[in-house]
Amino acid sequence: MLRVDGLRAGYGRITGVDDVSLVVRPGELVAMLGPNGAGKSTVLRALSGMITPWAGKVLLDGRDVTGMRSDLLVRAGMVHVVEGRRVLPRLTVEENLRLGAFTRRAAEAATAMEEVLTRFPRLADRRTQKAGTLSGGEQQMLVIGRALMARPRLLLLDEPSLGLSPLLVSEVFELIRGLAAEGQTVLLVEQNVVQGLRVADRGYVLAAGRVTGEGSAAELLADTALVRSYLGSE
Ligand code: ATP
Repeated sequence: MLRVDGLRAGYGRITGVDDVSLVVRPGELVAMLGPNGAGKSTVLRALSGMITPWAGKVLLDGRDVTGMRSDLLVRAGMVHVVEGRRVLPRLTVEENLRLGAFTRRAAEAATAMEEVLTRFPRLADRRTQKAGTLSGGEQQMLVIGRALMARPRLLLLDEPSLGLSPLLVSEVFELIRGLAAEGQTVLLVEQNVVQGLRVADRGYVLAAGRVTGEGSAAELLADTALVRSYLGSE
C-alpha cells in the first residue's frame, strides 16, 4: 500500500531523515521505532505533506504522491495523527470529529460520525463537551476518532501513548489492536517499544535518520540486545 524509497527530508539546514526506505502492505500494522531524534516524526511529516521531501519517492497504492499537498493526501487515503493530541479545545467533541470528515459528503460524514461514536462510547457520552475539558486519554481517542472520520486507507499514528498514564496507555494500545484486527493499515511511531511491537506485525528501527534494522515484531522483540540498547525498555 505504501512504498517509501530513499526518503530525505528536514528543516532548513537540519536533516531530519537521511535515507529511509520502507513498505507497508495492506492490512499491516508497522511500527517505526528508535531513539529520540532518530527522525521518526519527520518521516510521518514528509509522508503526509506537512513538510516537503528533499529527495526520494513515496508511492501510495502504486501512485507517486511525493510532495503532494496534505489535503490531497487525505483524499488519497493517508491520514496523519500528529504527536501531542491536537484537539481544538473550544470546539465540542462532535465539532472536532466533524472536521475530520472535511473531504466527505454530508451523508458519509454522518455515517462516519455514528461509527466513531459507537467505537468510542466515552466520546459519545461527551459529544457536546468542549474538547479542551477532556482528559488526556480522551483527547487521544478524539484525535484518532477524528482521523477515522476520513476513512483512511493508511493511518499514520505518531506517539499515541506519549504522556499518558499506564492505564490509558493500555487503553490506547487496545484501541490500536482493535483497529488492526479490523484490517486497518497503520504506520505507528512509538517510544513505548515493547507495547508497540506487541501490537505490530513488523517494525523498522531508525537511528540518525536511517533504517538500521527491520524485521517481524516477534524477531525485534526477541532481539533483547536491540531492545535494550536502541529501544529502551517497557
Ligand atoms: P522524537 O521521538 O524525539 O520526536 P523522532 O525520531 O520523531 O524523535 P524527529 O522529531 O523526526 O525525531 O527529529 C529528527 C531530527 O530533526 C532531529 O535532529 C530534530 O532535532 C530535527 N527536527 C525535528 N523537528 C524539527 C523542526 N520543527 N525544526 C528543526 N529541526 C527539527
